[in-house]
Amino acid sequence: MSDRLPGFSTLAVHAGAQPDPTTGARATPIYQTTSFVFNDADHAASLFGLQAFGNIYTRIGNPTNAVLEERVAALEGGTAALAVASGHAAQVVVLQQLLQPGDEFIAARKLYGGSINQFTHAFKSFGWNVVWADPDDVASFERAVTPRTKAIFIESIANPAGSITDIEAISTVARKAGVPLIVDNTLASPYLIRPIDHGADIVVHSLTKFLGGHGNSLGGIIVDAGTFDWSTGGKYPMLSEPRPEYHGIRLQETFGNFAFAIACRVLGLRDLGPALSPFNAFMILTGIETLPLRMQKHCDNAKAVAEFLAGHPAVASVSYAGLPSDKYHQLARKYAPKGAGAVFTFSLKGGYDAGVSLVSKLQLFSHLANVGDTRSLVIHPASTTHSQLDDDAKIKSGAGPDVVRLSVGIEDKEDLIADLEQALGA
Ligand SMILES: *Cc1c(COP(=O)(O)O)cnc(C)c1O
Repeated sequence: MSDRLPGFSTLAVHAGAQPDPTTGARATPIYQTTSFVFNDADHAASLFGLQAFGNIYTRIGNPTNAVLEERVAALEGGTAALAVASGHAAQVVVLQQLLQPGDEFIAARKLYGGSINQFTHAFKSFGWNVVWADPDDVASFERAVTPRTKAIFIESIANPAGSITDIEAISTVARKAGVPLIVDNTLASPYLIRPIDHGADIVVHSLTKFLGGHGNSLGGIIVDAGTFDWSTGGKYPMLSEPRPEYHGIRLQETFGNFAFAIACRVLGLRDLGPALSPFNAFMILTGIETLPLRMQKHCDNAKAVAEFLAGHPAVASVSYAGLPSDKYHQLARKYAPKGAGAVFTFSLKGGYDAGVSLVSKLQLFSHLANVGDTRSLVIHPASTTHSQLDDDAKIKSGAGPDVVRLSVGIEDKEDLIADLEQALGA
């Protein structure tokens, strides 16, 4: 073996995996078991006391899921990761380690519609208060900081318009405030953007989207960058204070630069319970092997489709950071030089009715609420994912009544353009 560090495509295929030690199986087996036999009573006690690493029960960890965790940690450049049942579960588990009732976190206003709902309603019932800021105005994050702020949450490529967030500028705000920066990297995937390289302390994903990539399995993951010091100022007691359920150990002191991932597992996943099925972990691992190939094709197709739409007379505007005229193009060149992703919006001169009509006429694009599938997808956010917002909030989050969102798949771009052409023209 050479001492070369493996490249991204090699990691996407190999990181975390090895031939199965008992059978020689080359693909990672699906360890479809709830529980694991202890060697003896001492071994069992040391696993339960966190003195040894090993498998206990699939709610807390599973060998198939462990390969997925190691692979995504490697691709993102983190110290450790924790796989969970969905992207939303990842967000709950992360914030549960950071916030006490009455605390606040600052979130970018441009987010996945489901996250806006989760933060506004479900998290409020836990006593976690979201304060919104504008990702295009870094100073709005600075102004939102209070003594109760415990985290900042942004998307790298933001829903629904595919806008690019200035991660480094917002990480500077987080550093000054002494709070971790959490980046939802779902729409970029680590192939396009590695937020940890730009100052993120925690990365979350919906594995359901580009990482799994085939629209067949839900999953989520949390990646610990290992960069944040949880011990200062007593701000993060879950990590810095003795844990009564683990013989009084302090997680930061014991686990150092992967303490956050451990907290998410042994306090979050163990107690809240959103475990990922090993079958889904297997499906997502298989998807990740082709991530670099798929993601490049997604981006190249998206650019061709965006260029076609920008020249079409029925289209009022296209928001795609890969177009040189786009307001996010400079940020895209800095953060996502390989491509600006495959999810973006455009608006129609015919407004709300034209949006609804287009969606019903498309044949190759599937009308559904998902992104990051091999298949091309379309949705009209104002009548679906963002329908719960009032008109002003719809426009502020990039989901005005005339806006249509695409997730461009990996089909032949000529077929995608022909489908849009018939639906726009007819
Ligand atoms: C889909 C999505 C989520 C939620 O993930 P689920 O796996 O559906 O729970 C969060 N953030 C973004 C950007 C998403 O696209």
